[in-house]
Amino acid sequence: MTRAKAFLFEEGKKRSWQGECAICGKVRWLQVCHIFSQGKYPRAAFMPDNCFPGCWRCHLGPGGWHLEPTWAAAWIVNRLGACEYEKLKLKVETAGPVEYTTTRLWLLEQMK
Ligand SMILES: [Zn+2]
Repeated sequence: MTRAKAFLFEEGKKRSWQGECAICGKVRWLQVCHIFSQGKYPRAAFMPDNCFPGCWRCHLGPGGWHLEPTWAAAWIVNRLGACEYEKLKLKVETAGPVEYTTTRLWLLEQMK
């Protein structure tokens, strides 16, 4: 989320990000939204291009990303452009296995 200009807040072991939601543009607590679901494409769960920051409302709330898939698909194609969307789709569908140790180190580095 560093690339999204979000700020990390730590309270004990709990970590939360605050920054601009990519969907509504409001500064709120953020979640990681996956363009291609991590359930269907677990190998793309940690792929940065497959993620964007979103607030709870836009991600999981009524009318949001998960509850309105038709709207969500149109929004992301509009945001990325049809060509970039298709490139990402191909990348996600052909992703190799996740190397968890390397991915964890990379994510920790991104959070500094
Ligand atoms: Zn939002």
